Amino acid sequence: MKLNVKNIRYVTPEDWRVLTATEQGSRNHEVVPTPLITQLASLRSGNGVHKCISNLAKIGLIAKVKNAKYDGYRLTYGGLDYLALHTHTKASTIYSVGNQIGVGKESDIFVCADETGKQQVLKIHRLGRISFRTVKANRDYLRNRSSASWMYMSRLAAVKEFEFMKALRREGFPVPEPLGQNRHTVVMSLVDAFPMRQIATVGDPAALYAELLSLIVRLAQIGLIHGDFNEFNILIEEKPQEDGQVLLIPTIIDFPQMVSISHPNAEYYFDRDVACIKRFFDRRFGFTSDEPGPFFKDSTKTVLKRLDVEVEASGFSKKMAKELDAYMKEHGVDGDAGEAERDDEEEDEAPVSEQDEPLEPAPKSETPPEQAVSDNVAADLSATPAAIA
Ligand code: ADP
Ligand code: MG
Repeated sequence: MKLNVKNIRYVTPEDWRVLTATEQGSRNHEVVPTPLITQLASLRSGNGVHKCISNLAKIGLIAKVKNAKYDGYRLTYGGLDYLALHTHTKASTIYSVGNQIGVGKESDIFVCADETGKQQVLKIHRLGRISFRTVKANRDYLRNRSSASWMYMSRLAAVKEFEFMKALRREGFPVPEPLGQNRHTVVMSLVDAFPMRQIATVGDPAALYAELLSLIVRLAQIGLIHGDFNEFNILIEEKPQEDGQVLLIPTIIDFPQMVSISHPNAEYYFDRDVACIKRFFDRRFGFTSDEPGPFFKDSTKTVLKRLDVEVEASGFSKKMAKELDAYMKEHGVDGDAGEAERDDEEEDEAPVSEQDEPLEPAPKSETPPEQAVSDNVAADLSATPAAIA
């Protein structure tokens, strides 16, 4: 899905108010009636609201819907993206947004930068972009919020990812640095590395293999199973050493499907994570270990800590976990694992990086050389007018 940040600088403070009002209204209205938007925006002049609505609709942040009973508007994914970006900008988490570096079934990944020009990653969760409308009826977890379910579920995925990334980082696991989360988005540090999927050969597959499996075991020892531990979600940094060897440093990403070791199918997920690594090392590097395992039962014999429980007690509650779980099951959201199994034969795909045309570059003069982010970096969000209080 396109993220066209070019228009963000033309959004006026009143427009932001109206956009926020539409978001608020859509929590319990499939189509938000225009009078409700006016009321929630509480702008002094009603005419003003209509002008804002027309501005927002023109750039696709809201869309007009003709309901059987009344006319109104719904927030689009673009509108939600803008609201999240606006918040990140105000919090000085994001200053500019650049190229898209990844696109999955359930997320879009962009390079972005902070005010100092440091490159980071913006992950936008997009659950339900494919099929929400077809399955919304009568589901417990969607009750009373069918209209907002794509927004809600995408936010849940973002909250979960952010909370787990924070907890894992604290525990010293190799994960990106979590920098911010808002609505359906997560901002994290950019890892200067490629997915293992794109690594053709390694000097010492045995060492990397052992390290990756030990990560699976260490995760279990703090109560967690990644659930999608495969060559797409392990980034490998290749660091040449003085002795001519290349040091391989793995970073784990992608946490919305993380499961607790108390999950009824925990062992299945654990085994699947292990099997993914085994299969990949066999097919890609011709490496098979003589040692069986690791096994779920052994790995969870000495549980040092329960991060699964800790995270539940923080921002991502049990209730949220249940709702997201139900959604993922319902929609067959299964991370990249299924993909890895399906296209084993086709190993020479192009890197996911160079797709999608770059957004319009910001004028050079606005970025001093020491701040230059990269030619990719596009629209300058700082030109955004002041925010809604
Ligand atoms: P998805 O849920 O779509 O699989 P991921 O979080 O796995 O999303 O990200 C998709 C791709 O984006 C990754 O395979 C990787 O190439 C890239 N990517 C994601 N996060 C980062 C990061 N922090 N640093 C560098 N690349 C990243
Ligand atoms: Mg992934």
